[in-house]
Amino acid sequence: HVEDEEEKMSPSKKQVLDHSVKVATHYNQLQEVGLAARSRSRIFFMRNFNNWLKSVLIGEMLEQVRGAGSQQVSVLDLGCGKGGDLLKWRRGGIDHLVCADIAGVSVEQCQIRYDEMKKKSHRNEKIFTAQFITADCSKELLSEKLDDAELMFDICSCQFVYHYSFESEQKANMMLRNACERLKPGGYFIGTTPDAFELVKRLEASDSLSFGKEVFKVTFQSKGSYPLFGCQYHFNLEEVVNVPEFLVYFPLFEHMAKQYNMQLVQKQRFADFFEEKVKKENHRSLMMKMMALEPFPSEDGLQASDSAEEYCHAKEHCDRADVRTPLGTLSRSEWEATSIYLVFVFQKMS
Ligand code: SAM
Repeated sequence: HVEDEEEKMSPSKKQVLDHSVKVATHYNQLQEVGLAARSRSRIFFMRNFNNWLKSVLIGEMLEQVRGAGSQQVSVLDLGCGKGGDLLKWRRGGIDHLVCADIAGVSVEQCQIRYDEMKKKSHRNEKIFTAQFITADCSKELLSEKLDDAELMFDICSCQFVYHYSFESEQKANMMLRNACERLKPGGYFIGTTPDAFELVKRLEASDSLSFGKEVFKVTFQSKGSYPLFGCQYHFNLEEVVNVPEFLVYFPLFEHMAKQYNMQLVQKQRFADFFEEKVKKENHRSLMMKMMALEPFPSEDGLQASDSAEEYCHAKEHCDRADVRTPLGTLSRSEWEATSIYLVFVFQKMS
């Protein structure tokens, strides 16, 4: 475990181990678990929900890009991890994908997944071409590592990643540069990241330095003052994450993005995004498939338009919340964890 390893180190070595190394080590050590094990996880539904949300976001942005006339669609998956979004890019019919992540083992697994996907595809299905890069995207310039030096992207997707870079202005800026400098005019920088306002609100409401229950716990080092960069907290989410993250003060993010000619077009909390998107039939049926849910029950008076929070809450009273069946849904604590996040979309002005 990263923390244990750190304990054994001499003070000088400790200093060298900066947060990027911690992040890479942590993600490299995460084991790839099969679907069966994943479905037993206490955050199974939360994962599915997050995947649904990313699918909707990615699908809608690809529609925008195509609508604007882009023929050859290229995407940068910044902080791709093990390639959890590969299928979404395949479904979206993109032409080229660049996957980059600081964790080498994850990038390797991502590439293996891609190779398998290609092998298993139908003969007449054209799978996108891809490049895989292991790099600390908050320190290194990705454009120098591209196979095609001229490549420009329609979309940069940065899912659950950007907050790691807010350790310092330099890092946050380099990550942003990597996300934006190779975007075509009109291209999009999309992503998901914790909402600093929500985190601070919950911290301030807590009588300790932490909050969260069951599946997650967020712990700060102090409260009352929150520096713009390097405001560290630990987000402990079941087996998934226990590495330092940093508050992303959104107005500052938006301001920094302007340097790259990026304009904010959408910023929405997960709860609001869910409420809006689930009203659309196609998104709703995808949600039901992904969550393996039956249509929202009408006998307990809940409609699709009810907020996810109400829905999950009510469902806990109807069902036994601790029973995980394919018909189950997010538990209250899963919802409390996922509702910390927000979706953002920036567009590159000419
Ligand atoms: N985007 C993937 C997804 O949605 O499934 C993975 C998300 S995971 C929560 C965060 C990822 O960010 C990890 O794979 C981690 O290695 C990567 N990451 C964190 N800091 C990074 C950095 N400085 N450069 C590149 N990747 C980074």
